[in-house]
Amino acid sequence: MTLQRTTKQLQAVQAAFETAGRPLSIEELHALAAEQVTSLGVRTVYRAVRRLQELGDVVAVSVPGGSDRYELATVASHHHHHFHCTACDRFFDIHGCPGGLHKLVPEGFQLEHHELTLSGLCDSCA
Ligand SMILES: [Zn+2]
Ligand SMILES: [Zn+2]
Repeated sequence: MTLQRTTKQLQAVQAAFETAGRPLSIEELHALAAEQVTSLGVRTVYRAVRRLQELGDVVAVSVPGGSDRYELATVASHHHHHFHCTACDRFFDIHGCPGGLHKLVPEGFQLEHHELTLSGLCDSCA
């Protein structure tokens, strides 16, 4: 365990992921982590996320046309999908997978992986 790994900032960011239990943007991480480390700036959160990515603890969730979200590597290692709320712009984990997607690829093609993001309204916005 490195020294940096134990800094308050990294701990606050990691705790934010655990509290939220869903993919978070830098801004969302900042809002949550700042509750624990009041002087925390957005840039520090960004650096902490980069560091956690280097350590392999956090992975980016790419969002077409939007800012990246991040999730814990322990969550990402289990195959899952995401739900994007178009009203509050939050992302949530979906734990099911329709499967059988190899049936959709053209003849002779080989499916290697897939990403699936459903969009609509979350329970707070619906
Ligand atoms: Zn919503
Ligand atoms: Zn799937």
